[in-house]
Amino acid sequence: MTAPGTPTTRHPVNSDMSSSTPETLVLAMERIRDPALRPIADRVGEGRRLDAADARILYATNDLIGLGTMADFANRRRNGDRVYFSANQHINPTNVCILRNTCTFCSFARMPKEDGHYTRSLEEVYHEAAQAVGSPTREFHIVGGLHPKLRLSYYTDMIRGLKQRHPNVHIKALTAVEIAHLARIEKVSVRETLEALKESGLTSLPGGGAEVFSTAVRATIAERKLTGQEWINVHREAHALGIPSNCTMLYGHIETADDRIEHLTMLRDLQDETGGFLTYIPLAYHTENNELGEQLGRVGTATTGYEDMKNIAIGRLFLDSIPHVKTHWPMVTPFMSQIALSFGCDDVEGTVIYERVYHEAGAVTEMGMAYEGLVALIRDAGKAPIERNSLYQELRSDFSALDLPHGGDTRPSRAMMPVVHAA
Ligand code: SF4
Repeated sequence: MTAPGTPTTRHPVNSDMSSSTPETLVLAMERIRDPALRPIADRVGEGRRLDAADARILYATNDLIGLGTMADFANRRRNGDRVYFSANQHINPTNVCILRNTCTFCSFARMPKEDGHYTRSLEEVYHEAAQAVGSPTREFHIVGGLHPKLRLSYYTDMIRGLKQRHPNVHIKALTAVEIAHLARIEKVSVRETLEALKESGLTSLPGGGAEVFSTAVRATIAERKLTGQEWINVHREAHALGIPSNCTMLYGHIETADDRIEHLTMLRDLQDETGGFLTYIPLAYHTENNELGEQLGRVGTATTGYEDMKNIAIGRLFLDSIPHVKTHWPMVTPFMSQIALSFGCDDVEGTVIYERVYHEAGAVTEMGMAYEGLVALIRDAGKAPIERNSLYQELRSDFSALDLPHGGDTRPSRAMMPVVHAA
């Protein structure tokens, strides 16, 4: 600990990237109590890259405010007070997945004949997507299981059909795991699969399926899934084709700090090579309705706010070349996401009408958030809301015409509640 009155170094930085009012950023070293963080704070202040040894110290510290102070500084230097969100709709075409019995952390997937399984026809997908008409939706987020029989043409037809019906809506679709699966059943390369998807209208890839890249961790939680290196390779191919993507890390299960650091290092290395990642999203493991939660005796528990903020902050500090860090509010609650905006985060995800994957795993949040609620959540944290599309192009920054809720009422209106889907 630093004794009161200990001289501190301050790192002023002239920021030309802050949102509304240009300011001189200062890394408030007096807020950093853990002496082990001080040399790291000096490097952060000077804009120098952190290494694995630094990351080990960041994961070991209990000085959450010190950690957050550094991450907030790093974020403000890059993004000012801007906080991004999207008006997006989640579409999950099928929950049937051939890895259902080996991804032990997954609560979403079903076997082909298991209770609760579903696979949508294209007409059903278009019917669901029709909610976007007359709504602010500008992104479809499309992910699902690895269906043994759905071919690549199902997805390219779907994307083409959605683009015809909603030409102004971006399509962020299919994780690296789904793309590798389609390539395998089509007996074509990952590159050819991506080319076909791009040609049909795909805008970008989501970051799911990464979990934690460690071979030992994957052997326990996702034994037959794509390896970490294979996940990286799919994204490398996508970036080479001009398809940007997101990246994630699932934390809070059996992984160690070293596993997390290895994972973040692999993401950073690819970003240095391609520059194709738009945002990093730490994802909190949920314990309900999955084998891993039962094995660990963790059913009924969740990651703590402390862990959630730590992973946001370390992501921002270590992944210095990835422009954005996103908090996934359906997983950590809108209220923790609001706090994350002071811990290095500049994106609160979106309206996510209607998130299902984490709600199957026990997420207790609403399944979507009203557009106005999201704007209010950002604004009430003292930040400048920016509506973006999938590529982080700015769509709207003036919300003065909106009737914004007060007191943190982020619930969707009744008119936005889920439509019923047949299984
Ligand atoms: S995590 Fe993905 S690949 Fe694994 S079972 Fe669930 S849906 Fe399938």
